[in-house]
Amino acid sequence: MGNKLNPKVIKYIFTAVLSAVASILIVLVTSTFSKKIMSFYRRNSFETTKLIADGYAELANERLNTYFGALDSLYDEEIFSKGTTLDIIYHINKNKSKIPPEFLDVFYFDFEGVATDIHGNTQYVTDRAYYNAIVYSGSKSFITAAQSSKVDGKYIFMMVKAVYDKNARLKGGYGCAVDLYQFEEIFQNANIIQKGSISIIDKYGKFIIHKNHEMISHSYPQDDKRYIRIATTTLAKNKSGIESFRDENGIPVTIFYSYIKSPGWVLCFTLPDENMLVIERKRLLINIITILCCVILLFTLFFGEFMTIELFQRKSLIFVDFDPLTGLWSLDRFEHEADKMIARHKKAKFFLLDIDILGYKFISQNHGDAELKKILKFLSREVKKVADENQGVCCRGDSDHFFIFFKITSVQQAMRVFKMIARKEYNITDSYKIPFALKFGLAFHLPEEKYKGISTHVLINQASIAKKNLHKEGDLLYAIYDSKFLKRIQTEYFLESQSEKALANHEFFVLYQPKISLKNEKIIGAEALVRWQHPERGVIPPNDFIPLFERTGFVTKVDFFVYEEVLKFLDARLRAGHPVVQVSVNMSRNHNKPEKFMEDFLAVFNKYNVPAKYIQVEIIERSFAENRILAEITTRLHQNGFTVAMDDFGTGESSLSMLTQVPIDVLKFDRSFLLSSTNANGEIDRRSAAFIESFIGLSKRLDKETVFEGVETESQRDFLRVIDCDCVQGYLYSRPLSQVDFEKFIETHI
Ligand code: C2E
Ligand code: CA
Ligand code: CA
Repeated sequence: MGNKLNPKVIKYIFTAVLSAVASILIVLVTSTFSKKIMSFYRRNSFETTKLIADGYAELANERLNTYFGALDSLYDEEIFSKGTTLDIIYHINKNKSKIPPEFLDVFYFDFEGVATDIHGNTQYVTDRAYYNAIVYSGSKSFITAAQSSKVDGKYIFMMVKAVYDKNARLKGGYGCAVDLYQFEEIFQNANIIQKGSISIIDKYGKFIIHKNHEMISHSYPQDDKRYIRIATTTLAKNKSGIESFRDENGIPVTIFYSYIKSPGWVLCFTLPDENMLVIERKRLLINIITILCCVILLFTLFFGEFMTIELFQRKSLIFVDFDPLTGLWSLDRFEHEADKMIARHKKAKFFLLDIDILGYKFISQNHGDAELKKILKFLSREVKKVADENQGVCCRGDSDHFFIFFKITSVQQAMRVFKMIARKEYNITDSYKIPFALKFGLAFHLPEEKYKGISTHVLINQASIAKKNLHKEGDLLYAIYDSKFLKRIQTEYFLESQSEKALANHEFFVLYQPKISLKNEKIIGAEALVRWQHPERGVIPPNDFIPLFERTGFVTKVDFFVYEEVLKFLDARLRAGHPVVQVSVNMSRNHNKPEKFMEDFLAVFNKYNVPAKYIQVEIIERSFAENRILAEITTRLHQNGFTVAMDDFGTGESSLSMLTQVPIDVLKFDRSFLLSSTNANGEIDRRSAAFIESFIGLSKRLDKETVFEGVETESQRDFLRVIDCDCVQGYLYSRPLSQVDFEKFIETHI
């Protein structure tokens, strides 16, 4: 149940996620960016290195051509085509000076495969590769793989050319063994200038040249994918290219490869990619710095924001308080924002709607706090929707109070909007599993009104004042604060100044409103209600002066005036032997000292000869803190034989727990309960039936007598009877009556 929607926590999570996502994005962007820079840089430096590799391949090619050229210079058409092996060897020997130092050996071989060197030594051809190429494949020239020489173990490769007789028929071939080490010298620069090394792979995949001489004449290791790929792609397509790898030590290496045409070899120029290492290191550094920056950013975003907010909040420069339950703004924030709206649009009209739940405390007691919270959350969502739809602001005040504030074009438009909202809310609350009703207080801020510079705070007060006088229109229970209230305030000031005089002049008088039992329709009591007979203004109803007197404290004097009048009346009737009923008198909230109250009350009471059972005291709900006072007063009244009723039950601040603390006898349900549940035809509607029934049921369970105020229609009465309400007070039976009329009423209804 404790799924608290805490906007602060949500904000924390949101900020965290947002900054994390932002950091990831930044890292991604910077890393691809640095990668781009690096590859651009590399591509540039590669171009030149590749040219070098191609140059070396060309060099090797030329050198091999030179060797073939040297072989050509040893050739003599006449001798080679017609002569014997010895003639040929002799000719070669004669031209020995033309043999370059790289040639370790020059030899002639015949069709049968017998090879003879320049010293005249003969042996069968050892390298079948060149023999096969010349003899069987008909090649004109051929270069072999590298091998170690049989003679002195030096590494060599052989170059051979075919020899034809005068009829152009193949008769054999001649060639030379080239000293690899000397051939290799042409690449010496590469090893010195560049930190790289050159290797050459032949078409069989064997190394002709390798910085590690042991590799010569061996094929590259089978698992060395680098060379395999180069060898195969290059040899297949006669092309050159670049491949980047990590060598066995994990160092990045780039191989620039180039095709050596005449023998069909591949030259590989292997460079440890130091640039890449440096760049990679730099990139790593950049990435680390970026991540660090992101973390710092994240921290600043995350904590900075909250620290700033808290600081600002502490200095009350801003209001960021949210209602933890609903996530709506706090009242402070709401007032602040609404005031800003007023300040921004000086000529605009505004509308404040005050919404609260009827019988709010009851719901909490009947269905539990969890259910109540659900209702509040549910309602908050509706309120937010309305505020958003009207580009306004909203908040939850204390407990079940919601406020919506928005700009309007006219009061009429506002009323149309309000009625739409209220009707919609009515349908929604109606469909809610626990039916509940709403009360609305409306206040307007109109620029043309005299009372300019009005703040939201004032509007809130006005709406709440207005709600004291709710009226019913169709299904809606609402009250509008209008200038009549202003007039009333002026009136109050006027009345206040005259209160003492009025009491002295006996301008106050008491009316009695009968209470009727629903069991037999007989009178079982009455409530004493005060009036003011003002010399200029006529009869003033208590709602116009009691709230005022409560503020000035004068109300206690009025209360005691009523007590005295009631006792006087009952005493007279009892003495005359007329029937009497119990009379309820109101006790205002201002009586705060139980002992003093009781003392004063008994002092008046004892002046007359009226049994205590004929007096009932109606107390009004107070704040929780004041339950103790109510409890003490009630106990003292009980000790003296009086009964106590809780007036306007269910509309006030206190809750059912109050009932366990304050041992009242009667629960008087406020008129607004019936108002909210009666439709335009005066009938009780279905949904409220259940609602009210649950209230009565609860009162019964707590063993309280139940009285319903404001019963105006027969269907209301019938309904209350069905659900077992004990008695009613309302215009259906009688309005408050003058003493004379009340006496008549008793006679006819007892
Ligand atoms: P209350 O104590 O809730 O009194 C009930 C009010 O509801 C009375 O208004 C009564 O006339 C009215 N009422 C009763 N039945 C119906 C009905 O069927 N329809 C309608 N529309 N109204 C009905 P009243 O006499 O104007 O009194 C208003 C309030 O003034 C009282 O509410 C009570 O809070 C206060 N008040 C009246 N007399 C005294 C008093 O002697 N002392 C104190 N402290 N407060 C008093
Ligand atoms: Ca009352
Ligand atoms: Ca009442």
